[in-house]
Amino acid sequence: MDHPGRQLKLVQELELHGVSAMLVTHLPNVRYLCGFTGSAGVLAVLVGKGRKPTLVFFTDGRYSEQARNEVRCAKVVIAKGPALASAAEWLAARQQRGMEVGFEAEHMSVASRSALGKVASKLKLRELSQVVERLRMIKEPAEVDHIRAAVLLASSVFEVAKQEIKPGVTESSIAAQIEYMCRRMGAEGMSFDTLVAAGQRSALPHGVASQNLVPDNGFVILDFGVILAGYCSDMTRTVHVGRPDKRALEMYRAVLEAQLAGIDAVRPDVETQKVDFAARKVLAKAGLGRYFTHSTGHGVGIEIHEPPSLRKRGRIPKRTKTSQRANAAIPDRLEPGMVITIEPGVYLPGIGGVRIEDMVLVTENGCEVLTPTGKDLIVI
Ligand code: ZN
Ligand code: ZN
Repeated sequence: MDHPGRQLKLVQELELHGVSAMLVTHLPNVRYLCGFTGSAGVLAVLVGKGRKPTLVFFTDGRYSEQARNEVRCAKVVIAKGPALASAAEWLAARQQRGMEVGFEAEHMSVASRSALGKVASKLKLRELSQVVERLRMIKEPAEVDHIRAAVLLASSVFEVAKQEIKPGVTESSIAAQIEYMCRRMGAEGMSFDTLVAAGQRSALPHGVASQNLVPDNGFVILDFGVILAGYCSDMTRTVHVGRPDKRALEMYRAVLEAQLAGIDAVRPDVETQKVDFAARKVLAKAGLGRYFTHSTGHGVGIEIHEPPSLRKRGRIPKRTKTSQRANAAIPDRLEPGMVITIEPGVYLPGIGGVRIEDMVLVTENGCEVLTPTGKDLIVI
């Protein structure tokens, strides 16, 4: 992993934002910048005009061994008190006139922000939005390799898991089998709670596995992903138990066509909302547009949901000049190296739903579908 390269890019971003230091508190961002995988720590970044930047990672005694083993290209300090306070004090001691310290606005609680104000009252703090996330959108080849491995693991589990789907079985027992097999095959964990939604419950776009039984006839949606070497995967397949009727077949066909249209639209420099339109248009034509109630996809990497989001861009709300500048950070076009999902779905209340989701890598001249699992309707 190219930690020095990432740190250098961050420093360039900070200079662009006109801040000379930053407190990185969001753990996936900390991990990205210095390799620490534990669950408590703060990275302080000091740009240092004309000199090499200084990065110091603050954590507590529980993580001293782990930090020593994992942290790359940053000094480690084991703090006596809260890591955030120690990091802020460290920056305050190095404060120069007019120095502004950026912090991750989306990842700081009101309580932490107020505590920060108390320990380092002289620090001039500035809200930053998704500065590290922007860097994380473009994956390095080594990151793509990890993602590919996670995708393949989940996909091979699906091939076995589909045999668990039969009438009378609970959704949660199917989910348990999936998660057990994933762990057995080496997954560090699941990217999110496994979704299994059968029959009428398949009309819930986010149906976490319950005690509901698989009916004799209806759709079953499986949506799950694994974490491997710190990187997530995400896939959805919908199968049908019993003979599908005409309406079920039409629904499935329309969602598959929409998904293929979405994939077809993925290439560098295309607006993210264009990909969303491409999928949405197919469903609208099939008269199912209003039952497609979520965005077409999202970025995947260290976190299961990362920028970019493939949705219609709303009107940008009026904000202060500063936060507008910060928010301009997330571009609205696809770039080579992004890994995204394409996952349109249709959900008919009281009847059932269909979703098909693949992971896709944006390449120099188009895209590569990473998920190898077939998409013809499986009838059980
Ligand atoms: Zn998913
Ligand atoms: Zn997804």
